[in-house]
Amino acid sequence: MTETVKQWLDALNSKQISARESVELVLKRVEITDDKIDALLNTRPQQALALADEIDTKRTNGESVGPLAGLPIAVKDLLCEKDIECTCASKILKGYFPPYNATVIEKLNNAGAIIVGRLNMDEFAMGSSTENSAFKQTKNPWDIERIPGGSSGGSAASVAARQFPLTIGTDTGGSIRQPAGLCGVTGLKPTYGRVSRYGLVAYASSLDQIGPLTLNAEDAAIALKVIAGHDSKDSTSADISVPDYMANLEGEINGMKIGVPKEYFKAGIDAEVNSAVKTALEHLQNLGAEVVEISLPHTDYAIATYYIVATAEASSNLARYDGIHYGARAKNTPSLADVYKKSRREGFGDEVIRRIILGTYVLSSGYYDAYYLKALKVRTLIKQDFDNAFEKVDAIVTPTSPTTAFKIGEKTDDPLQMYLSDIFTVSVNLAGLPGISIPCGFSKTNLPIGMQLLGKPFAEKTLLKLANAYQKATDFHTKRPAVCGIQ
Ligand code: GLN
Repeated sequence: MTETVKQWLDALNSKQISARESVELVLKRVEITDDKIDALLNTRPQQALALADEIDTKRTNGESVGPLAGLPIAVKDLLCEKDIECTCASKILKGYFPPYNATVIEKLNNAGAIIVGRLNMDEFAMGSSTENSAFKQTKNPWDIERIPGGSSGGSAASVAARQFPLTIGTDTGGSIRQPAGLCGVTGLKPTYGRVSRYGLVAYASSLDQIGPLTLNAEDAAIALKVIAGHDSKDSTSADISVPDYMANLEGEINGMKIGVPKEYFKAGIDAEVNSAVKTALEHLQNLGAEVVEISLPHTDYAIATYYIVATAEASSNLARYDGIHYGARAKNTPSLADVYKKSRREGFGDEVIRRIILGTYVLSSGYYDAYYLKALKVRTLIKQDFDNAFEKVDAIVTPTSPTTAFKIGEKTDDPLQMYLSDIFTVSVNLAGLPGISIPCGFSKTNLPIGMQLLGKPFAEKTLLKLANAYQKATDFHTKRPAVCGIQ
């Protein structure tokens, strides 16, 4: 069975499977599953097969090929690819064909990965359930009446349903980790600055990061090595060398210190989630890690702080969509002001409009000091909480989400309830830290439960090592939802 990135690359490198056959295989898997889960916005078989043939010819001729040569993948619909429509699941970007590639796309192309399709998401990455897509509702492969999480819901559902071994998502407040947790896959949010954001359509620029969704930590290590690194086109990308994550993957976690924040295990967390994460902690202890209680005292302020900072930045970033520069323009607009107003009213969904209004409000004169500036100060305190904790521990373990996947429609009328589901993920973005969500159990109703591992800045290799050690000792990450069928 070819499912993981590692299995796939081994099969490609040993010529058990060609790049063309790989693309054909994922297209078949998509055909079997996507009418049930709606993870993809589009695929491009002809283009992918042509690329595959080029790679196969190179291999036959003994030419050198990249580390992901022939690997079929899919990307979230907010990464710019030259001459390929990029909508961010928004009507306002219908018809927007970027004239350039994002750095991450460039790196994946150069590594020989074959991008076969683009994945559904919450509009402009705003959401926790993929219910805010203007185009379709992605379903959780474990229960198609439930949300896959968001905003990278398409990316997580696709990997969970074994459509693609690797998808690319983004995480501004949890959008890689939360859907990974709810769909039972592995999702890595790198340190802010580890991966270039050039060509990523911005939601909240000081929080956004690109990362991989895969079936296990080993695959995440392979993918991160390819996409990470300094980029002169992104002034916030870090000029720090990229370690060989694979070489650091194996080995003892004996003696590693793991912090468990007491504020994360309070009322509101589902009993099954609580007990699965506690059991996982025991497991890590059995593998030699030392578990200690820590405190992150400003946790209660994280949601409020995040939704002020994120919406403020969003209101500024989304000001560029005016019906003129990008994508769709409203018709029957007698004046220039009408072009702006009508294009935005018709082009943006309700949640995006809500956030633009909120963000504009917190940045407006008179409220700036009371909300935005205060939020920035609390952001510093939240970062300091982590700095203090990491003086004592090597990693922090928390649940990824307080509950398992909720029903489609359950929280759409109550945005605040939706925002609260991000309680365990947003602090990490405010502090710029790396985090990974890995499967650590199932509820009685067979819904995946995710555990989140957090690390010091640029300590992805510690997280990957811990996650890998846990996955070597458990099998939650190997479980497949029935929707995959027998392939
Ligand atoms: N759910 C959060 C939000 O709606 C996080 C989104 C994300 O990480 N892109 O803002």
